[in-house]
Amino acid sequence: MRRKSLLILIYHHLQGQGYMEAAVALDQETNGGVRRHEVCDNIDLEMVLMEYESYHYVKFQKYPKLIRKTVEQGEIRCARSGRGKRCSTVSRLPKITPSQSQQCGNGDKKDNGSSIPPEGSEFGLSVSSCKNGQVVELAMSRKGQMPDGKFSIHDAIKGAAVDSDYKERLLKPLSGFSGMSGEMAELAAVISRDIYLHSPNVRWEDIIGLEDAKRLVKEAVVYPIKYPELFKGLLSPWKSLLLYGPPGTGKTLLAKAVATECKMTFFNISASSIVSKWRGDSEKLIRVLFLLARYHAPSTIFLDELESVMGQRGASMGGEHESSWRMKSELLVQMDGLVRSEELVFVLAASNLPWELDTAMLRRLEKRILVNLPSAPARQAMISHWLPPLNSTRGVELRTELDYETLAKDMEGYSGSDIRLVCKEAAMRPVRKIFDVLESHHQGDTVMPAIRLETVTTADVLEVIAHTKPSARSLTDRYTTWEREYESV
Ligand code: ADP
Repeated sequence: MRRKSLLILIYHHLQGQGYMEAAVALDQETNGGVRRHEVCDNIDLEMVLMEYESYHYVKFQKYPKLIRKTVEQGEIRCARSGRGKRCSTVSRLPKITPSQSQQCGNGDKKDNGSSIPPEGSEFGLSVSSCKNGQVVELAMSRKGQMPDGKFSIHDAIKGAAVDSDYKERLLKPLSGFSGMSGEMAELAAVISRDIYLHSPNVRWEDIIGLEDAKRLVKEAVVYPIKYPELFKGLLSPWKSLLLYGPPGTGKTLLAKAVATECKMTFFNISASSIVSKWRGDSEKLIRVLFLLARYHAPSTIFLDELESVMGQRGASMGGEHESSWRMKSELLVQMDGLVRSEELVFVLAASNLPWELDTAMLRRLEKRILVNLPSAPARQAMISHWLPPLNSTRGVELRTELDYETLAKDMEGYSGSDIRLVCKEAAMRPVRKIFDVLESHHQGDTVMPAIRLETVTTADVLEVIAHTKPSARSLTDRYTTWEREYESV
């Protein structure tokens, strides 16, 4: 039912834009099923068209070819809608006057005639819409990419950001998105508020152990950015990679270190939150996210908990919630777009359950890196990092006397995050013992008593270990089996 409505919309849009042959072909393909329906005028046709492109790609593994009748330069079709005047122009756009440009947030665009795609160019379609006198140009690639140079919203953003400082860029240009549609602008605002991370601030040396994973990530992403001349042709950089392994082993830290060390814009999004928070809008959110990432390139999009959205898809759409199906499709389309583009936008995806991932997604994540539980030396380094012999903060000293080697042995199967929790709990014990003193002091005396915390011993930590369970030990074999089957190197 939904597909038919979409086809009807597309049919009328094609007609309205002068793509007569495409409209007739569509009508014939559906045995005349789309011609007899009218279109309501409250539909965002640009969105519909993009949606159709995505749908077509996923269904037939190729983008639809949209053709149009040639029109005279400057021809404008205007149609009256219930919401006021709405105009559309086809690819030969009228020149945008400075005042219009200003309204569109596109102050520095010189000549819109230059945006006409040349014959045979990869940008098959250029649609402009005019709302309340504002001209907004939207050029769409047949390959489903948002061609940056063609996207007036993109130019608008760039224009607004030219002189601004790197970190401010994401905040300033958002006004440019209002030229496109209020909905997109809202999503862009959400992304810069909740998903864009100003300063991930994780250095390689903050990550303990994981030497192999660090080396592989550096080879795949960091060196191509540092030494681009070495990574051409066959060696062109990976655009997306999968970090998989038990939870709490440092996958997020690795992604943040990439962004910090390469000074990349970092978008951090948990896949499950896309679904839960933006259920209806998740697909549009993905689209805007990639658009922003391209503008702010070099950027990293870190997609955490990938399995929660990219689980095995049912046969076609059967049994699966449609909006989640469309979101997945959009993600796949966007990732294909990245491979073809020159911009440095990387998708680092993380999954704790890689065997649950959709094969279509796995194909796109060609580089897969196991981020495993810490080795014995790494565990030892972690314990001495979090529980050093002397830890002094704000005048309170915490001393430890620990047999690090024994503790590391006893914490086999623990993730970095588990070890940190054990250390925290052990450090809490002597602090807990002084609460009574502090509380009784608080009620009466105003002079703070001298505090001397008890030393944390190996026995204390062993006791904590006895009361905790590592969170992922049971899955270790599964990761190594999966690694043998799917590891890319
Ligand atoms: P993941 O993304 O693999 O689930 P994170 O990278 O979010 O795990 O790690 C969670 C926390 O555990 C980190 O914030 C850090 O405190 C600790 N941690 C885990 N692995 C390491 C590591 N290798 N080095 C330092 N800290 C670690």
